[in-house]
Amino acid sequence: MSDPAASRAISGESAGRDILGLMTELFPICRSITGAGLRETLNILKRRIPLEIREVPSGTRVLDWTVPKEWNIRDAYIRGPGGGKVVDFARSNLHVVSYSVPVRATIPLAELKAHLFTLPDHPDWVPYRTSYYREDWGFCLSHRDFAALEDGDYEVVIDSTLEDGSLAYGELCLEGRAKDEVLISTHACHPSLANDNLSGVGLAAVLAEVLAGGPRELTYRFLFIPGTIGAITWLALNEDKARNIKAGLVLTGLGDRGRLTYKRSRQGRAAVDRAACLVLGQSSPPGRVLEFSPYGYDERQFCSPGFDLPVGRLSRTPYGDYPEYHTSADDLEFVSAEALGDSFEKTRRILDILEQDGTFVNLSPKGEPQLGRRGLYASPGPEEMALLWVLNMSDGRHSLLDIAERSGLGFESLRKAADRLTGAKLLKPEKSS
Ligand code: ZN
Repeated sequence: MSDPAASRAISGESAGRDILGLMTELFPICRSITGAGLRETLNILKRRIPLEIREVPSGTRVLDWTVPKEWNIRDAYIRGPGGGKVVDFARSNLHVVSYSVPVRATIPLAELKAHLFTLPDHPDWVPYRTSYYREDWGFCLSHRDFAALEDGDYEVVIDSTLEDGSLAYGELCLEGRAKDEVLISTHACHPSLANDNLSGVGLAAVLAEVLAGGPRELTYRFLFIPGTIGAITWLALNEDKARNIKAGLVLTGLGDRGRLTYKRSRQGRAAVDRAACLVLGQSSPPGRVLEFSPYGYDERQFCSPGFDLPVGRLSRTPYGDYPEYHTSADDLEFVSAEALGDSFEKTRRILDILEQDGTFVNLSPKGEPQLGRRGLYASPGPEEMALLWVLNMSDGRHSLLDIAERSGLGFESLRKAADRLTGAKLLKPEKSS
């Protein structure tokens, strides 16, 4: 068993500030599923954690998919009939549809409009759009700016390239005493959007940094990948390693002020599902738990039937349930250090359960042993309850997680009780760990 005190050296509050600081640094970068912005992001993370940056060439067959061409962009704008720039990529990278092919043309407004995207219901926000798997181009702008466009000819410039290159992703394996792995996966392919998903990237990076500094029972594998194609690429290249994954979390949307939400893995009752449900259920206010569905983020790939990995998803407000999702309003103001810190702490607690769960045997199972004689309690209270629950249920068949679910007591208090009872020779581990 690892020492929980060492791994809890960072408080949720300071982790939240640290994550927000990292997000602020990464925010301006124009990321996509491939290209220089994604690499720059991974290199910034590499300053904190020993991330390996892997490159997979365009055209590589990965499961039923093919690694796409690499997209890069230097500049883009629309110049109006009056000569001024009416849309400018230099002001926000959301203005260009990600994966837009290069364009240099002068076209009338009516023709241009087929390539413009707005949000009429939120006239000051700029939408986030992509065209990864269909060669096209487009611009996103506020509906207010769109409505002000005058008739006439517009100069359109997208100075981008879409060529054979490679897909980059970051991977970090922190080996523990056991070969069993916990997968922490987060998508790093979105441009200037804070909650989706610099929150996941920042939380995973700070978590990796903290876990790297303490003892570990389990092995942790962190993936910073482009959504969908990154998960598919990793799975295609690592079928052997995937077999060691005994638990996993997809981290996304962890900085908004809503309550935590856990989406179960396809397996539904795997250890990670039970640990997450316990932590969220005992939170105040309690988080909510969603059943698995084959839609969402990269849990779709990890939980595809050919892999069926026990990987759930941790978020705050689910994507699509907040109007700022995939718009310019998902900015650094939309997230808070407090929410990020809370998400960090709850993630840690879920991992602590996976790390410290165990099954014990009561060595004095006939009648209750006399605890007072052994200095194990002074007055009735939650500590006594934890001791009694552990003693009663420890028949070699119930783990501490089982006991936590059945008793409603916190996992940590049961873990402490088990340690005290072991010290008093009233309990022994079922299997030596
Ligand atoms: Zn997204």
